Amino acid sequence: MKTMANAKQDYYETIGVPKDSSAEEIKKAFRKKARSLHPDNKESGDEQAFKELAEAYEVLSDEQKRAAYDRYGHEGVKGSTRGFEDVDFSSFAGFGIDDILESLFGGGFRTSGGFGRPQGPSHGAHLKYDLEIDFLEAVFGCTKKITVNRLEDCTTCDGDGASPGSKISTCETCGGVGQVKELVNMLFVQTYQITTCPKCSGRGKQIEKPCKDCRGQGLNRKKVDFDLKVPAGIDDGARMRLTGAGDKGAQGGAFGDLFIIVHVKQHKDFIREGSTVHVKQPVSFSMAALGGEVMVPTVEGSKVLKIPQGIQGGTKLIMKDMGVPILNYPNRRGDQVVHVNVETPKKLSKEEKELFQKLASIRGESLEVEAREEKSPAEKEKSSESEKETKKESKKNKNGNADKETKEEKHHEKHNDSFLDKIVDAFRPKNDE
Ligand SMILES: [Zn+2]
Ligand SMILES: [Zn+2]
Repeated sequence: MKTMANAKQDYYETIGVPKDSSAEEIKKAFRKKARSLHPDNKESGDEQAFKELAEAYEVLSDEQKRAAYDRYGHEGVKGSTRGFEDVDFSSFAGFGIDDILESLFGGGFRTSGGFGRPQGPSHGAHLKYDLEIDFLEAVFGCTKKITVNRLEDCTTCDGDGASPGSKISTCETCGGVGQVKELVNMLFVQTYQITTCPKCSGRGKQIEKPCKDCRGQGLNRKKVDFDLKVPAGIDDGARMRLTGAGDKGAQGGAFGDLFIIVHVKQHKDFIREGSTVHVKQPVSFSMAALGGEVMVPTVEGSKVLKIPQGIQGGTKLIMKDMGVPILNYPNRRGDQVVHVNVETPKKLSKEEKELFQKLASIRGESLEVEAREEKSPAEKEKSSESEKETKKESKKNKNGNADKETKEEKHHEKHNDSFLDKIVDAFRPKNDE
């Protein structure tokens, strides 16, 4: 048997039919493919593919298994397929394909085959549960109360399906065993096959008056609470399994399991990438130049972060071990990456403007360009556009130098912002206010 359920091919694809095919269509497609893939077929025979095909057919030809597979995929039918891995097809050499199919899927090649499979108490169905948790709950782990509406033994009849006080007698056909032996022909050899007792459907008992609360099924749906421990570091889309939290099996069968699919809500400040947390941190113009300290949101609350003097926009500062704990290794944590965004003031007061002008003059920065160069036609067009916008500038400033600088800056920005581009939407409300 394969253990990697995820690596398995879709059963419908294996047989080559659409998901909404009728039982008849599945049977037809299966037979056609089985003939071509069968190991005896010297041209297209493929034993491995044939086994996979047989397994797919076993599930899709059984109404109940097909329903479980449709809802839960391979997990839903885990353990309920025979697994044709152990079947040695070489022992079938010389037999026609119909003989082989018949021996695999029962006499007359019925769609619901009974291949010596004792039924008795059946294992309960697996259930699925979608769990939504907050970003920080996923980071640090949490305990969640989950309510499952699952099948349990009917309390009125204690699970035996008989109305209280009514007579339950042992099934005469099977003597209470629930199974009967049947003499069958298998590949020209007569053999005994054990099947579910047709009289009592495997219960071993005959019920005079069925229980009203469960209509004789012995099972009822009930809401049951479970405490689920969600480990620190779990990520969106992770799956958890709560053993025994699924449906109760009929006739005293075991409980199935509960599969939990974890959905992690987004956070307004943080973007998670594995165990790394990304945040965007605005830094003022003056602080970028002078250096200083800012409060940065982290998963543990706001923390002080030193901004080095002369920091450039797009710089990434690392806050070590402030990211997400690594799943199953709670003592190891990822980092937080702080994406520095230097904010240039958009509006200046008169005083601020004077100060900037003074600063520029101290630094010997020329805000306008003296020498003008011959323009290329493309640049001519560009500057004539900007002429319309800013008359004052176009008077003195028709040049190549300033253009070059802008281009360089743009390139720089593009380079650093590749990640920010990805996360910018999450921060947009903050910046556009
Ligand atoms: Zn009952
Ligand atoms: Zn019986």
